[in-house]
Amino acid sequence: MPDYDVIVVGSGAAGLSAAISAADAGASVLIVEADTQVGGSSRLSGGHFYAAGTSLQKNAGIADTADDMFEHYMTLNQWRVEPSVVRKFCDLSAPTFEWLMRLGVEFPQEGLYRSGVGSTPRSHQPSDAGEGVIHVLEAQCQQRGIDFVLDSRVDQLLLEDDAVSGIQIGGDTATSSAVVLATGGFGANPDKLSHYYPDTALNADWQWYIGTPFAQGDGIDLGQQVGAQISGHNRGLLLATPGFSRDLEVLLPGWLIVVNEEGRRFMDETGPYTVAAGLIQAQGGRTWAIFDETARAEARPSPISQAYWVNEVLERKADEGFIHRADTLAELANLAGVDVAGLAGTVELYNADCDAGSDRQFFKQNGMRTISSPPFYAAEIRPAILCWTGTGLRIDAETQVIGKDNRPVKGLFAAGETVGSLHGDVYVGGGGSFGPCIVFGKLAGTNAAQLAKTTENVPTP
Ligand SMILES: Cc1cc2nc3c(=O)[nH]c(=O)nc-3n(C[C@H](O)[C@H](O)[C@H](O)COP(=O)(O)OP(=O)(O)OC[C@H]3O[C@@H](n4cnc5c(N)ncnc54)[C@H](O)[C@@H]3O)c2cc1C
Repeated sequence: MPDYDVIVVGSGAAGLSAAISAADAGASVLIVEADTQVGGSSRLSGGHFYAAGTSLQKNAGIADTADDMFEHYMTLNQWRVEPSVVRKFCDLSAPTFEWLMRLGVEFPQEGLYRSGVGSTPRSHQPSDAGEGVIHVLEAQCQQRGIDFVLDSRVDQLLLEDDAVSGIQIGGDTATSSAVVLATGGFGANPDKLSHYYPDTALNADWQWYIGTPFAQGDGIDLGQQVGAQISGHNRGLLLATPGFSRDLEVLLPGWLIVVNEEGRRFMDETGPYTVAAGLIQAQGGRTWAIFDETARAEARPSPISQAYWVNEVLERKADEGFIHRADTLAELANLAGVDVAGLAGTVELYNADCDAGSDRQFFKQNGMRTISSPPFYAAEIRPAILCWTGTGLRIDAETQVIGKDNRPVKGLFAAGETVGSLHGDVYVGGGGSFGPCIVFGKLAGTNAAQLAKTTENVPTP
């Protein structure tokens, strides 16, 4: 008999959900965690959950379905994702969301909001962010008597008769009928970033990962030991930043414009964070926020920014030479390496739009003001905050890890950021990573427990 029916590697949102559902399906479960505490990046996160057809949507009179979510998701990503996996996420998003609420996670009605570029509110914000969700899930694991081993980084999978049969940590082993890999992403591993997410290399020393240092991509290595396929390339979520400090602020104020090297605007500066970094990346990754002295002097801390777009900070950064400052737009353009005529034309057009009260090119709604009082400023903006990674193990819609022979690797399931089959070029919106971590974590736990039951009931010859 194996030591456990199911071993779960990693104790973030995906791993804890897997453990709970496996235990509820009758399995004995061990969770192994590299860190000295549970929670991983999930604990640090907002904990938002993207779902269609939830009770909160119904309360708000929003008619939404898994079909609508699927169509939006697939269209947004030009079908460059695995349809069966996306379909499963859409189908299970609402039932899993309700399950999470039944476990005790609070999602207030006012936390339902429209995020990303879709028109339907599908993002659900919990009362106590990711930390609160982890707290509830951990308590639920404890109630079920699930065993935890902390401070133990799994470095190998055991194989028996071509089936995964447990885990190894140095010289120690534990056996099981099924293993669920839920080790998170690889945002803290520079080598894996340059290999699997080369866009991040453009940001050089500005690069800043906001998740756990244990996001080393171990799931990829463990899966590859047993022949797993990798799915998706260059996937994840980058966020735009002026790089002044390591404060997680991702929105830009309306009183500036962002231009590329040609001096051309290319976005509504106040648009969704889910697309802003991609738009900047498409300009080659280096762009400049342009504003004038009046805007700088009047910039006060706001809900958008406490740390970056504030008058004293901007003054200090200009004094330090981190922001270019010049008496004319032509001089500013030269300092920043931006086309002089391009910038002049852009500002002229923008100022005319400000006077007319409408942004005819990009439809910016908030905060427009002319750029006319010297000195002028140019602050570089790069998509350099890394939130999560989306390249990982290929799974099927039942969370089985798929091998190079296109068959499931027996006994191996995966969920959460360690999986690569779900994310395309465009982030669907707030909760688009955390939501599927829980959806597929729960599913992986159920399926792993089911496999364990089947395997252990087979009489040995
Ligand atoms: C600050 C922040 C805010 C975010 N906000 C949101 C949001 O609001 N909405 C959203 O959708 N997404 C958000 N994200 C992304 C989202 O939170 C993550 O994608 C998600 O939580 C990942 O969950 P996970 O269970 O896959 O991984 P994790 O939560 O990172 O858990 C993985 C665990 O595995 C452990 N581990 C790793 N390797 C091993 C090993 N070899 N052996 C044993 N254990 C191992 C790690 O220590 C870790 O505890 C945010 C991320 C951050 C960092």
